[in-house]
This record gives sequence, C-alpha cells and structure tokens, in this order.
Amino acid sequence: MEEVKTKNFIEQIIEKDLEEGVYDHITTRFPPEPNGYLHIGHAKSILLNYGLAKKYNGTFNFRFDDTNPMKEKTEYVKSIQEDVDWLGADYRGEVFFVSFYFDQMYEAALQLIRKGKAFVCDLSAEEIREYRGTLTEPGKESPYRNRSIEENLKLFEEMKGGKYPDGSKVLRAKIDMASPNMNMRDPVIYRVARMEHHNTGNDWCIYPMYDFAHPVEDAIEGVTHSICTLEFEDHRPLYEWVVRELEYPQPPKQIEFAKLYLTNVVTGKRYIKKLVEDGIVDGWDDPRLVTLSALKRRGFTPESIRMFVDLCGVSKSNSSVDYAMLEYCIREDLKLKRSRVMAVLDPIKLVIDNYPEDQVEYFDVMNNQENEELGSRKVPFSKVLYIEREDFMEEPPKKYFRLFPGNEVRLMNAYFVKCESFIKDENGNVTEVHCTYDPETRSGNGFTGRKVKGTIHWVSAAHAMEAEVRLYENIVDEEKGKLNEDGSLNLNPNSLTVLEKCYIEPSVKGAEAYESFQFVRNGYYCVDAKDSTPEHPVFNRIVSLKSSFKLK
Ligand code: ATP
Ligand code: MG
Repeated sequence: MEEVKTKNFIEQIIEKDLEEGVYDHITTRFPPEPNGYLHIGHAKSILLNYGLAKKYNGTFNFRFDDTNPMKEKTEYVKSIQEDVDWLGADYRGEVFFVSFYFDQMYEAALQLIRKGKAFVCDLSAEEIREYRGTLTEPGKESPYRNRSIEENLKLFEEMKGGKYPDGSKVLRAKIDMASPNMNMRDPVIYRVARMEHHNTGNDWCIYPMYDFAHPVEDAIEGVTHSICTLEFEDHRPLYEWVVRELEYPQPPKQIEFAKLYLTNVVTGKRYIKKLVEDGIVDGWDDPRLVTLSALKRRGFTPESIRMFVDLCGVSKSNSSVDYAMLEYCIREDLKLKRSRVMAVLDPIKLVIDNYPEDQVEYFDVMNNQENEELGSRKVPFSKVLYIEREDFMEEPPKKYFRLFPGNEVRLMNAYFVKCESFIKDENGNVTEVHCTYDPETRSGNGFTGRKVKGTIHWVSAAHAMEAEVRLYENIVDEEKGKLNEDGSLNLNPNSLTVLEKCYIEPSVKGAEAYESFQFVRNGYYCVDAKDSTPEHPVFNRIVSLKSSFKLK
C-alpha cells in the first residue's frame, strides 16, 4: 500500500524548487548565535533543517552566527556543538563560523557601494531613529544619502581602518525611506565597534548587522532554503534585496515557520540566562530547564526529542505544545529499552518474623517483561526489607489492597506476606511493619492456593544501595500564569524535592552517568551526571509512570 503522509509546507516548497530546477541540490543550515545554551526550540530547528537535507539528499550546514562579539562566549560554542552532536545531526564534522567570512562580507559591502546601493551615514543612532518615521508616516532621507560612490568607498575603508570612533558612522543600504516596511528604510548594514572577537581578536573594528550578514552567509555557503522563525517574516524583503543586489547566481530563499513553545517551562535564552545568573537553578543544565544539556542530564534521549519534534510538526502559526507530550515521548522511548528495577523512595522497614535470620535467597527476575532481549537478573531477598511507606496503612480506606494489619499481599517476584503487627515511634509514626511469609507462595512455584489483591515492591535492606533521589516539577506554574505582574517568572516553589535516603536494589550499583532505569510502580530515573559518585549515588526523576496525556 502506498504510504500517504502529508507533506509540510516547507517540503512542498523544496519539492517544487527541485522539480522546476530552481536548485538541483538543497542546502539547509542551523545558525545559532553563541550567546547561550540551546533549548528544545533549537532542537526543532536543528532536526527540521537536518531532516530536510537528509530527506532530499542535500547538505546540512552547522554555522555559528558570531557577528556580535559582545555576547559570544567560547563556553557556549562548546556546549552548542555538544548538543548538535548529541541530537545526531550530521554536519560532516565541519563547523562554520560567520567570522570566517568577514573579508567576503566586507567585499559584499564594497560591491553595494560601487553599485550606488549603500552609503556611509554620519547621523547618530538617535537621529537615524528619528529619521526613520513610523508605521504611519514615511521616513526622511539622510543628508548623507547622496554622497558620491568614491566618497563612500573612501569613508568605508577609513571606517575599517579605525579612523572613526565607535558609533560615529555607519554604512546603510540605500533602499526606500518611504517603504511601508520599516526594515527597508535604508537599514544600517555595518557599524563601527571596537570589540574583541572570540575568533578574529582585534582584527576588525567594523561588524556587519544581522540583516545584511545573514543572507550573505547563506549565499556564501550555497544555502538554498534558509529556514527561520516567524519574527523574521518582515525582514524577508530585505533578505531578498541583499541577495538580488549582490547578484548571486542561485540566491537562497528565506522561509519562516512558527517557533516551538511549551507549556509550564521556560524557553527563550533571556529567561533561562536570568534563572542561571540569579542562582535559582543549578546552572544551564539544571534538570528543571529545557535546555538540551538539562534534558540530557534529566535523562531524556535524543530519540525522545526526535519523536517529540516530529509529533509537533511544522506550522506557520504560533502555539504552545503541552509539556506532557514531551513526557509521553520519553516514556514511549524508554518503555522497552530499560530495565525495570525495584527502588524504595520513602522507606519503612518490613520484617518477616518467620524468615530465617541469616538466610538470603536470589530471585531470577526479568529485566523487562515486555522485552525478553533485556535478559534477567538475580535479586536478593532476606528477612529485613524496605517497602514504600505508602504501601502500609494502619487504618486503610476502602479499596486499599496493600498492607494493613491482617491483610496479605504479594511481594513482587517473591512471596506472599501477611501483616501481623507494626511498631510506632514516640511521635506516632510507623517505623516497622512485621509480617509472616508463606513459603508455598514462592514466585515461580505456580502457587494457586489463594489470591491476593495487592502487589508491592521491596528491597532487601542488607543488600540495598543507598541513594539520593531528586524529584522535579515544572519550574513555572502556568496555571497561575507564567509571569507575575512585574514581568518576573512565577516560580513553582516545589520544583525540586530531594529525597536523601532511598534504597535501590543492588543490580543498579555501578550505573554510569546518564544511565536510566524504570523504578517499578513509580517512574523513570537516571544517574545524575553532575553530582552522582559511587559513594553518593544521585538519581533524577525523568518522568513518572502516570500520565493523563493522550496522543490525538
Ligand atoms: P531564543 O528564543 O532562545 O532567544 P534565538 O532565536 O535568539 O533563541 P538563535 O541562536 O538566534 O536563538 O537561533 C538559532 C536558530 O534556532 C534560529 O534559526 C532560530 O530561528 C531557531 N530557533 C530559536 N528558538 C526556536 C524555537 N523556539 N523554535 C524553533 N526554532 C527556534
Ligand atoms: Mg537570536
């Protein structure tokens, strides 16, 4: 049967271009500005661009848009590259930097001047703003607009040579001060700025502006489809003007799509940076954030991110995706891939009074009941176990099928036990539950004598690995509004809960950074890459097992 899958609007444009011979090969790119860490929105852009190149046998370029030296940091360059690698986007091991093209960009500016399409302007930034007009009124032409080509060439060269102080002169495109599109009113394309650049040091004291640099970078690399987000829609005429005036033989075209937004989380570098700088989170990779390094640390996989981005699709109108969909994707991805182990996060002791004091037996347990390929492991069982506090109740409500005085339950993979008594401390908290076990009911014996309604998990106290477990909730509380009246984020005070003393079955000992497991009846957890050590293991909750999310 023929596969019927609707093509998104970008695929339609590309297919038409290839059919009509506008291009015979497509090239896309991901052009991050190294001014922060990448987040889930960038993953969408990376996977979209890389996915298109792959689908149409084209080329995907990875390029740092480092035209703005003030904000750039080598730390960001490094982390961004790690994230792109993690997602598996293949850029042939070649990383481009716009700063490699500064000479060509300068040449392109000279070319515009020679064509009479650019001029050096001495107006101050404030005057330029005043002359620009408004959405309802046309702008006024700069008094420097009609300088001769020779004079412009000389002045621009002098700007480059360092003759003029910062901000005293700019190069502007000569387009149309009456254009209804403000971006076309003789936009500034080069400025004088003495700033040290992470790649070019102090070689340059003039830097190109984004709206000029971007089309030129794309054209230099032979990009065909320059995919960006909707806020650049109004800049498209300028993009087209630049590539037309510079007479590139197969000019790139700009296509816009809607940014990815998620409910209950903070996307947008500015907000994330503020949380980091204010010390509200533990760095750019705090597991409550949705930077890619945070998602990785939290235990998300590249496969789950890809599934999520695919499910989101590509659209032309802004909307927010439910965070629960991201959780759905990681659950789906890990479901068959990870071992299901027993871990007790809020422990109380369970003592089996009639079990021999020094006896240890080992139960053979399937690692994943839905995937035999993951094999099995031995789980030790002994007289003193830990169980979850919530699996015992002194006075149970109706339909509570777990442990309470007189009730019998199944200890997962082991025996039936019956609650005989319990001990409380001076504050009235239960500290120990005492049971008896029935050897006949041993798991694997095929016991059919009687049934029990509840099954609970456990960990042998003498064998357990002690660990710290961190539970996360969304960092902002969207139900009460993401922002407070003063524009600050409405933070969820419960976004992090630390459980200091949890007990995990010994098979998990030695797990490495990022390794993840299902803790049965609870959720998926992974070894924290930053803080976990063999002496003090730390686990992050990736996601709980429960979900109200349904895929439409
Ligand atoms: P931020 O919103 O975090 O400030 P940015 O757009 O300033 O991001 P850039 O480094 O300039 O970040 O972006 C690199 C690429 O990623 C751009 O092509 C941009 O359009 C795309 N991008 C950024 N945010 C999103 C998003 N939320 N959804 C999809 N694509 C995005
Ligand atoms: Mg940006």
